[in-house]
Amino acid sequence: MAEAQAKPRTPIESGCPDGFQYMHPVMRKNFGQWWYHEHPRPGVLRHVGRSGDEIWTVKAGTQRILDVYTIRKLCEIGDIYGDGYVRFTIRSNIEYMVSDPAKVEPLVKALEDTGFIVGGTANSVTMISHTQGWLHCDIPGTDASGVVKSMMDELIDEFRNCQMPNRVHITTSCCQINCGGQGDIAINIQHTKPPRINHDQVANVCERPSVVARCPVAAIRPALVNGKPSLEVDEKKCICCGACYPPCPPMQINDPEHTKLAIWVGGNHSNARSKPSFQKLVAAGIPNNPPRWPEATAIVKRILRAYKDNARDWERINDWVERIGWPRFFELTDLPFTKFHIDNWRGARNSLNASTHIRF
Ligand code: SF4
Ligand code: SF4
Repeated sequence: MAEAQAKPRTPIESGCPDGFQYMHPVMRKNFGQWWYHEHPRPGVLRHVGRSGDEIWTVKAGTQRILDVYTIRKLCEIGDIYGDGYVRFTIRSNIEYMVSDPAKVEPLVKALEDTGFIVGGTANSVTMISHTQGWLHCDIPGTDASGVVKSMMDELIDEFRNCQMPNRVHITTSCCQINCGGQGDIAINIQHTKPPRINHDQVANVCERPSVVARCPVAAIRPALVNGKPSLEVDEKKCICCGACYPPCPPMQINDPEHTKLAIWVGGNHSNARSKPSFQKLVAAGIPNNPPRWPEATAIVKRILRAYKDNARDWERINDWVERIGWPRFFELTDLPFTKFHIDNWRGARNSLNASTHIRF
């Protein structure tokens, strides 16, 4: 006991390791002291430090869920053609940092010869960020990584060229409530019916008070069904969000027919120049149609074409829609504006400002 007090146990570390140990030495030396950066070609950035040091970054897209052979191949390219330092961006691109500009072109060529696409910088459509889906999670309604793969196959030229008015961030999300984030275009799951309850299992599997507490519209009540403790849902109140399904899997909400995709547009985090803007629903009830999701991809391409043809230089999608207005957005994209775009939930007074049609 006395010895334990004299020498406390070393805490067991969890979470991310210290990133500095993996940084390129030029980045470590110039940390916080960068002066300016340039964009010499799509997929390549040049950062110059106040010390005069420079570092070149080459960015390539990956499929995010990587097998070990692909990771080894990417690392081998970094060892042979780069300086042996890589990092992954939040959108699953890999970036190679080199301090010698002569290494940039051979590195780009090695990546492209191996089948990776160099791009995703500046005013391109960068890699679609997506959530783990089937691999790690218990509630997905679609395979978000499959949606990403099939869309990026069709948007590949927009990734490797910088032809958009400004950068475009697309996100996908394989349920309606959790991961995913603000995106210029977001492709999310949309449930269209309330959960179906397997009353035989609720008492064994679910902690009923926490399921009741989980519902954002207070639609769930405890109930006795066939003499067993269970739950019931007031379907008039239910907004089909799916939040009850993670803590209570017997409240099954996923379904091949009624689980759809929806597309939201115009999300942007706040930055030094502007406040955050919230994405708004523009297309609903799109079939969740694996393995290529052609209906969702066609709508995303239509939105991108209208943005590319009509926005001014440097306007993000939210800036463009703000300038032209939502009615014009629907005209230009030829998307139908339907009653499903109108938030008619009884608490909607608070949330109408998040829909495309009205302001309080
Ligand atoms: S979006 Fe939903 S289903 Fe997909 S990984 Fe995140 S929590 Fe799980
Ligand atoms: S789907 Fe959402 S709104 Fe409906 S009962 Fe479950 S938690 Fe409540």
